[in-house]
Amino acid sequence: MDKGEDFIVANDLSELVDGMNQLTGENLLNFEDVQRQIEARDREMDHKFTKDLQVTALRGARHYIGDKLIRVAPPHKILDPKNGPLIAVRLHIVSRKTLGGLQTNLNGQVLNSTGEPVPGLYAACEVSGFGGGGVHGYRALEGTFLGGCLFSGKVAGRAIAKATK
Ligand SMILES: Cc1cc2nc3c(=O)[nH]c(=O)nc-3n(C[C@H](O)[C@H](O)[C@H](O)COP(=O)(O)OP(=O)(O)OC[C@H]3O[C@@H](n4cnc5c(N)ncnc54)[C@H](O)[C@@H]3O)c2cc1C
Repeated sequence: MDKGEDFIVANDLSELVDGMNQLTGENLLNFEDVQRQIEARDREMDHKFTKDLQVTALRGARHYIGDKLIRVAPPHKILDPKNGPLIAVRLHIVSRKTLGGLQTNLNGQVLNSTGEPVPGLYAACEVSGFGGGGVHGYRALEGTFLGGCLFSGKVAGRAIAKATK
């Protein structure tokens, strides 16, 4: 927070919003809009039976003992000064996963638009749909990507070795 160029730390919301607008050089944030949204969210923290889906999800997650033990900040009101200071972080959007792009056959050969193998062209891992989806289909979870990448790399490598013998 002291050295990061994407962090704004402030004691009140107006200072925080001004800081964020200065950081980007554009007036992207409107103070009243941000204030209204955070106050609405904070208000729900007092309601045991809130219908706010985010707060409900937060509380649901807190029932899980692992989360209770490792999370350092219990759910609280953002604008309550005793929980301060306020911290804003500028986010940089990156494409984390491609989830495919090239269609291959079971030997890792890239197929053209008519479904025929393109001679000498192989693909493995994420670009061929084996990061994420792949063998795991819709049930792919975080942490299941590298396995599919290694597997498809091995299959493609074997096919290349066989074809170039
Ligand atoms: C932050 C993060 C965390 C992750 N955590 C996990 C995890 O815990 N468990 C898990 O299973 N999976 C995880 N994954 C997913 C997994 O790491 C990726 O699916 C996997 O590494 C993809 O491997 P890849 O070889 O397909 O692509 P990459 O590893 O992206 O390799 C592609 C390579 O091609 C190079 N390249 C691109 N364009 C060109 C070009 N024109 N010429 C030459 N080279 C080029 C790139 O520089 C890069 O080195 C994570 C991914 C991210 C981003």
